[in-house]
Amino acid sequence: MRISMVSEHASPLATLGGVDAGGQNVHVAALSSALAERGHEVTVYTRRDDPALPERVPLCPGVEVVHVDAGPAAPVPKDELLPFMPEFGRVLAEHWRRDVPDVVHSHFWMSGVAALEAADRLGGARPPVAHTFHALGNVKRRHQGAEDTSPPERETLEPGVGHRADTVIATCSDEAFELIPLGVPSSRIAVVPCGVDTDLFTPDGPAEPRGRRFRIMTVGRLVPRKGVGSTITALARLAAAGRDDIELVIVGGSRGPEEVMRDPDVQRLRERARAEGIEHLVTFRGQVPHAELPAALRSADVVVCAPWYEPFGIVPLEAMAAGVPVIAAAVGGLIDTVVHGRTGMHVPPRDPDAIADAIETLLDDPELRGELGRAGVARAHSRYTWSKVAADTERVYRGLAASRALAPERAEPRRAMGGARA
Ligand code: UDP
Repeated sequence: MRISMVSEHASPLATLGGVDAGGQNVHVAALSSALAERGHEVTVYTRRDDPALPERVPLCPGVEVVHVDAGPAAPVPKDELLPFMPEFGRVLAEHWRRDVPDVVHSHFWMSGVAALEAADRLGGARPPVAHTFHALGNVKRRHQGAEDTSPPERETLEPGVGHRADTVIATCSDEAFELIPLGVPSSRIAVVPCGVDTDLFTPDGPAEPRGRRFRIMTVGRLVPRKGVGSTITALARLAAAGRDDIELVIVGGSRGPEEVMRDPDVQRLRERARAEGIEHLVTFRGQVPHAELPAALRSADVVVCAPWYEPFGIVPLEAMAAGVPVIAAAVGGLIDTVVHGRTGMHVPPRDPDAIADAIETLLDDPELRGELGRAGVARAHSRYTWSKVAADTERVYRGLAASRALAPERAEPRRAMGGARA
């Protein structure tokens, strides 16, 4: 199949760990590559954020990244990109008019807006559009309230994408439940998870040296909703109870290791560690290149992922694939990926006491850690390889192409149904 991926802010070529570069970038890159390995031809359309980028860049055999001129050729926070989506959609339509893809797969609500507009412009030649939200504005608002910097238009445009897309690919069951009150019929929702690179994230291989007897680790963007602060407080409680044998390594942020202290999120978290009296137990690593993460993860006894909410969360899978038990807040995708008592432990979100208890349970029981780690590897391999995710995604695409062939009138644009019903 000829597949067009649309990922307006999240380029598969981006450096990971900064404010707007995380799981979506990994997802688009890995899914596209795995689909290409299955013989498909994939083009990824993403916004040009640097004038030096060539228009087309090969990612791997069968996958090409196209940089779309829409808005300034400079980094722009994703919450300020909406005004450039009409132009993005116009460029997509131009490309697709020359070469209609068999299926379009848009990622994040703004890509959905641009992709659906572009697809509709093709009239009778309209390609089917599958959409993955990666995050939902109503969930974000529920948790972040006034802190949510999404443009107000998201409230109506995002459900509109859900109504107009031919199918919505949710990445976990929790997301599927969230889509129903937005008015997306369950018959048009498929659930296909994100995956993990099981060739890169393996239990065997080099591990970084540690600074103390035990090491716990968090990995990911340092935005407040990722809940790294809860893990700092959990460690402080353990330290107050006399445990000074545990270090916390915090990976991620908007800067590399040399400039890590200039990252405002690092400054905020360091201040919290200082206020809790455990600055000496916490190391901020900044962004770590993806290829170096396995050695970092292997050096940890436990990885803590304690977000307030989490659309999917690839990091817990990476830890599992590396054989490290995961303490996970029981939210979003983490409910599906981490099995309590088998590959890690679930804790309630925003609950440092529960995290501290879980850390202590695991650090005191090396056998349990070993068992959970091995089960994590097995689960990552049986359910979450990118080749399995690509095969499941391909099945969704083929279903779309088949229903289009049976019912050509569906090629007519599906008009927006208006705002959310609930
Ligand atoms: N990541 C990385 N280096 C860093 C921080 C993060 O390679 O310094 C990667 C991490 O390994 C994972 C992705 O960024 O693959 C984060 O994805 P996740 O779904 O966990 O979170 P998101 O950022 O999408 O909210």
